[in-house]
Amino acid sequence: MSTSTINFSIKKALDSKINQVDWENLPFGKVFSDHMFLMEYSDGKWQEGEIIPFAPIPMHPAMSAVHYGQSIFEGLKAYRNKDGEITIFRPDMNAKRFVESAERMCMPPVPEEIFVEAIRKLVEIDANWVTDKEGYSLYIRPFLFATDEYVGIKPSDTYKFMVITSPVGAYYSEPVRIKIEEHYTRAAEGGVGRAKAAGNYGASLYPAKQCQLQGFHQLLWTDAREHKYVEESGTMNIMFQIGGKLITPSEDSDTILRGITKRSVIELVESWGMEVEERKVTVEEVVTAARNGTLEDAFGVGTAATIAQVAVIGYRDERLEVPAIETRTLSNKIKNHMDAIKTGEIEDTFGWNFKV
Ligand SMILES: *Cc1c(COP(=O)(O)O)cnc(C)c1O
Repeated sequence: MSTSTINFSIKKALDSKINQVDWENLPFGKVFSDHMFLMEYSDGKWQEGEIIPFAPIPMHPAMSAVHYGQSIFEGLKAYRNKDGEITIFRPDMNAKRFVESAERMCMPPVPEEIFVEAIRKLVEIDANWVTDKEGYSLYIRPFLFATDEYVGIKPSDTYKFMVITSPVGAYYSEPVRIKIEEHYTRAAEGGVGRAKAAGNYGASLYPAKQCQLQGFHQLLWTDAREHKYVEESGTMNIMFQIGGKLITPSEDSDTILRGITKRSVIELVESWGMEVEERKVTVEEVVTAARNGTLEDAFGVGTAATIAQVAVIGYRDERLEVPAIETRTLSNKIKNHMDAIKTGEIEDTFGWNFKV
């Protein structure tokens, strides 16, 4: 199916809320654009999608997503480039991952071309919400949830696929402090860690809160079996530069979310002729490197923050300092390049920017 054959019904908002936005004090993810996308699954098929004014939706008290957690999401961003055009970063990759998450959660996958066109059309309609202010973007949140009105455990027969968008500034305003977690787990082998399933995030809140009480921003998750291998941090994948080499946990286990930012960073760095090691990364090697000064860089990679440089790694009672941000040649270069590709300042030789 080509995108030109996909049609949605469109009902425009009577007036825009954009003039009420305080761009200088924009909280992350609390302000929403004028429209949203909605498409329902019933009678064994997807019905016609619609773009309608942003508004609350009615909910039956027995709606199954709320009771049993059949609920998945995605997160991506639209940018205004230096020529005034709007581009979305690699939506085809999010479409694919959304299908995989749906399958794992026993939900009907949204066809990839409908997923991408729903986002494209919604962003086109709310184009003036994509500002050219430096560091800002339009965060796009597609989600799919079960809507059967039934208090019984089985895959729902009905679903809603929705997309909402929210203008955002920078996610982390300072380098992050992360703590190696050796008790709680985010994901176990055979579980749903690879899916962007809502329950994974609900389950992570309590452990994350414990580390925040100790002055950290996020946990650095380790494997559920032995707490011996590093997995990822919060909603970011993690990368380390040790003794000149860029190292990141491999994705062969189904406990790590397959990040699009991470994949892109790997492609970028490899295009510079630098080797990236995707393999099991032990807690011990990271801690040892931090102690003996061979840990040159550490950073989280994900859509919300793009590149979040790590300032401190907590390990048991130790606070291991990563070298000063100004000395981080690699992550600073990656950060600048990723931003420059998105804003069109350097040519997108990878074909990552999808034009709205
Ligand atoms: C979304 C997410 C990431 C980052 O993925 P991107 O595609 O780069 O945004 C990493 N880890 C987890 C747990 C996530 O939910």
